[in-house]
Amino acid sequence: MSSTRGWNPNDPQQNQTVPQEHSSRPIAVHWFRRDLRLHDNAALFHALESGLPVLPVFIFDTDILDRLEDRHDARVEFIREALSAIQEKLFAKGSSLQVLVGRPLDCWKKIVQTHRVGAVFANRDYEPYALERDTAVADFLRSEGIPLHLYKDHVIWEHDEVLKNDGTPYTVFTPYSKTWREKLRTCPTEKNPLRNFASETLMERFLPMRPLALPTLADLGFHPAGIPFPPIEIPQQRIEDYEKNRDFPAVLGTSRLGIHFRFGTISIREKARKAMGISFTYTNELIWRDFYSQILRNFPHVATGAFRPIYDRIPWRYSAEEFERWCNGATGYPLVDADMRELNATGFMHNRVRMVVASFLTKHLLMDWRLGEAYFAQKLLDFDLASNNGGWQWAAGCGTDAAPYFRVFNPTAQQEKFDPKGIYVRRWVPELGSSRYPAPMVEHAFARNRCLETYKAALGKAEG
Ligand code: FAD
Repeated sequence: MSSTRGWNPNDPQQNQTVPQEHSSRPIAVHWFRRDLRLHDNAALFHALESGLPVLPVFIFDTDILDRLEDRHDARVEFIREALSAIQEKLFAKGSSLQVLVGRPLDCWKKIVQTHRVGAVFANRDYEPYALERDTAVADFLRSEGIPLHLYKDHVIWEHDEVLKNDGTPYTVFTPYSKTWREKLRTCPTEKNPLRNFASETLMERFLPMRPLALPTLADLGFHPAGIPFPPIEIPQQRIEDYEKNRDFPAVLGTSRLGIHFRFGTISIREKARKAMGISFTYTNELIWRDFYSQILRNFPHVATGAFRPIYDRIPWRYSAEEFERWCNGATGYPLVDADMRELNATGFMHNRVRMVVASFLTKHLLMDWRLGEAYFAQKLLDFDLASNNGGWQWAAGCGTDAAPYFRVFNPTAQQEKFDPKGIYVRRWVPELGSSRYPAPMVEHAFARNRCLETYKAALGKAEG
């Protein structure tokens, strides 16, 4: 348990959330993680159907919190707000969420000491850290005679459900997406991965509890970030017009639901059900999400190295000063700078410009994609290891479905095409055109040639 937190679950004065006595009645526990909602929640539905009263639990994992550099990290606030919304609904049903702060295994030891737990339910999380955590928790629970039941909820199809005819994973998006759709079209109704798990209709089955307090942000060692979160409800028209508007950062043309998908405040099944009838292109984006999830799960080496290991031979440059200019939006390329400033100020960046800034760092500045990946991981509200890693490896040319390395985005041409009136860049770079705006930090033609020569020398002719 972290001693740095004001919130201490061991302290009976502070912590009302760990009942001090072992109840004689067996209960089921639903462990919320990336599924912070009460409706259409697969594991929660199964917990509520188990016949045991359900104790809902969330653990603020100090192994994760302690790694966050920014004490104003808005994602902690987002999680807390999502828990608070769940809490209100549980109070209305005479139950309450139990929130613990600490290392998951320690917290589970505590829960098992204080309750007679018959079974634990949770939705699967596919990131390497989560897999390790869940193995350790499952081992512990098993040693106590308690089963841990894990369910698919975060994706539509899991890593081993959409495979090539020879049983191996897809590494190219288009054929993957075709099989993804075909499988959905042909699967029997009872196995349809888009079906609704109506957990919200079983709310009476939660364990009756007195209302318990959530730790405050300050208890967790964090402060409000002052960033507004994207709304959970969006007009259907935006999805209908998605194909037309999605590439233009000046337009509110994408859903901005990334953070909600990330933390499960919305159901991917519900969104996919709706999207499929409205927009082929938007549905494709949701398929990209599954695609990268299965890549990370099937090829875990991508978490630390290039999908194609030959790309690990590239002799990346490093300059702290140049990296800082990229981070701060002072490269002298207005589109790149606008994007980075938007990211720093709001935690959001449009997909089109994510590609532009990632290409700029890896190709124009020839810096290691992992630096950019880590910076995005720190800043993006919708940060997701699989999608972020996939996006960065794509941009650097070393990923599964990457454009060939000799395609180098020209940031000026991208601006002319996708922000032709300069509306977006002026929003974020108001000093554009004045003497306060810097000249480009590297000339495009020079940078392009340097990149091509370096990649070519490192990879040899085979990859050209
Ligand atoms: P929309 O365009 O409205 O799409 C709806 C949803 O589909 C998104 O919220 C997301 O869940 C999913 N999606 C869309 N595009 C992609 C994609 N290319 N790959 C995977 N899922 C997709 N997406 C993340 O969710 N987390 C990340 O950390 C992340 N990092 C990225 C880094 C780079 C370098 C690049 C090029 C892309 C990254 N993406 C990431 C993918 C994409 O840019 C974002 O999902 C999208 O911009 C989020 O905005 P939105 O919610 O308005 O998406």
